[in-house]
Parts: sequence; structure tokens; C-alpha cells
Amino acid sequence: MAEVTLEKLHKRYGDETAVESLDFTVHDGETLGVVGPSGCGKTTTLRMIAGFETPTDGVVRFDSEDVTHVPPEKRNVGLVFQSYALFNNMSVLANVAFGLKMEGVGKEERRERAQELLDMLGIGDLGDRSPESLSGGQQQRVGLARALAIEPDILLLDEPMTGLDAKLKTRLRTEMSNLLEELGVTALYVTHDQEEAMAMCDRIAVLNDGHIEQIGTPDTVYEQPANTFVANFIGTSNVLRGKANGDSVDLGFTRVQDERLEAVNGEATLIARPEAFDVDDDGFEAQVRDVHYLGERIQATAELPDGTDLTLKFDSFDRQVSADDVVSLALDLDDVHVVD
Ligand code: ATP
Repeated sequence: MAEVTLEKLHKRYGDETAVESLDFTVHDGETLGVVGPSGCGKTTTLRMIAGFETPTDGVVRFDSEDVTHVPPEKRNVGLVFQSYALFNNMSVLANVAFGLKMEGVGKEERRERAQELLDMLGIGDLGDRSPESLSGGQQQRVGLARALAIEPDILLLDEPMTGLDAKLKTRLRTEMSNLLEELGVTALYVTHDQEEAMAMCDRIAVLNDGHIEQIGTPDTVYEQPANTFVANFIGTSNVLRGKANGDSVDLGFTRVQDERLEAVNGEATLIARPEAFDVDDDGFEAQVRDVHYLGERIQATAELPDGTDLTLKFDSFDRQVSADDVVSLALDLDDVHVVD
């Protein structure tokens, strides 16, 4: 396995900057999630690590080795893409063994190793089938088995679960993160699904417009977002602003006091997750506009007197709120993050 380091990595296409000064390390055996809006440079970053794209500037290292100009086939990188890119004219077993054939591994050994991987992924009985006769989830596993067959030092996954139904995704998430951990492979996992990234990755890099806004563990980016972009991209947030004065801030609809505010000069930005609000008789008033049942939770939108909307979340069994109710709310400061 290997550590991947990007040093001041840039990629420009003509006048357009796709990736700007990326600087980070993916540690040996770690799964790093790469998330961000469409066009922020996720795929370009992966393609530079794989060697399909030459950086305009900067260095890619595998451990201490500079691989910036090493061709893709010499990098020992496994790739799993959303389109699976399986060969339909070959059996599943031959698909998985393909990379080994390219490496000159003998026929018997190839078959054995491919079968072992299929067994490990729970599709050991599908080896003779054609990939096109498989379900999306089965194809996804074949794609993963094929990428793992060459025993890659680094595994790059680009939206591997796109197109799968929600239930299957949830199951594969668990299976795949267990497998990555078991194999100890260093992985970069591109997804636009932040929930998937939170569930599967050791750390998450949030990209925006070609640069990194924050890199950290799932709970750090969720609980201590570096800025409002991260707060809005990872989960749902209510961004509240007001003028700080000593240890308090007047948010218009309520005044809150917290020692963290002492460090803020002037304008304070508070990020309140939907679960930071509780129904409380001594609170401030808001008018519930709509309510959605999400199973264990209810998500509601409530309007403040000045017209601002708040997104709220309550445990369904705990609290009933209905559309058009006027509720009294309190803000639990333990669930509020103050942005520096
Ligand atoms: P998505 O989530 O939509 O797949 P992404 O985050 O993977 O997006 P990239 O595909 O890396 O984004 O693209 C980053 C930027 O670089 C985009 O603005 C894109 O238009 C541009 N870009 C990517 N590849 C090329 C190319 N071959 N030629 C010109 N511009 C490109």
C-alpha cells in the first residue's frame, strides 16, 4: 500500500482552471472521500492521480516517489468508475482476471485469484455469466473485484454507486467500507452524495471551484465546518448572522450568549444544524410552513417574523409539529458552531 501526496497540484484547460493548488496527503490505508458540487474538479483530481491527465503544475507522489509523469499502467492503481466499463463479450471471471492477464500472470493463477475475489464479494457463483446479464449491484461488485485483482497500492473510486437504488446503496456502503478496511488499501472515493462520504470515509475533502475548503474527519466537517460553504454542502444548515458584542450576539429574532463569541470581532456567523432547535415555551416564535416525515425524524420549515426560513428537525416520536402551527423555539448552543 502507499501514501498519496499532492503538492500544489494545478490543472488548467486553456483559460479555465479545473484544479487549483491542491495540497494534501491520503495516508496509507486511509479512505479519503472527495466531495463537492458538479464541476469542482473531483474527477480531474482522480485522473491526475491515475496518470490519465498531466498536471499543469505540481507534483503527485506515491510514498516518496514522484509519479507525476509515470504512465498510468506503471502506477499500480485500481479504478472503479460509475459506468463499470465491464467487457460484455467476456465472462465475469474473465473481466476480473483481465488486469492479471495484462500483467502476464498464468491462466490457472488468474482464474484462482479472480474466483477468490468474486467469492469474497459474495458473487462467487456468477463467474460464467456475462456482465450485461447482471443487476446493477452485481455489476458494481464485478467492477470492484476487477479493480482489486491487480492488488493495487491505491484504489480510485469515482461515483461507483450512481444508478443503484437507495436500499442497495446502503448495503453496499457497509460492505465496501468493511472490505476497504480489511484490505487496508489506500482509497480516494469521489461522490456527490455527502451522506455516502460520511458513512464510508475516514476523512473527507470538500472541494469547491478547484480548491479545498476543508479536509477532516466526517464529524469534524459536520460539527465544525470551516465556513458557510462547507456547512451548506455537508448536511443542512441554518446560517445565522448578527453583530457580536462581548459574549453575546443579537440575531434579530433572539439574542444568544456564548463565551465563544468573545473571540469574534463585529459580524458573527453561527451555523445551526436543523437539530439545534427545540420546541420551548420560553423561546422565540416561528410559523411552521411545511412538515416532511423522514421516518424517525420530521423535517420542518418555519418562518421567522422577518421572513427568514429555518430548517428544523425533530424526532418523530418526540414532538409533533404541523403545518401552520405557531411554535415557540429555543436554540441549543451546544449544537451551534461559531465560524471564526
Ligand atoms: P462532476 O461532479 O460533474 O463529475 P467534477 O467535480 O468531477 O464534476 P471535473 O470533471 O473534474 O469536475 O471538471 C472540473 C472542471 O474542469 C469543469 O469546469 C470542467 O468543465 C473542466 N474540464 C474537465 N475536463 C476538461 C477537458 N478535458 N477539457 C476542458 N475542460 C475540462
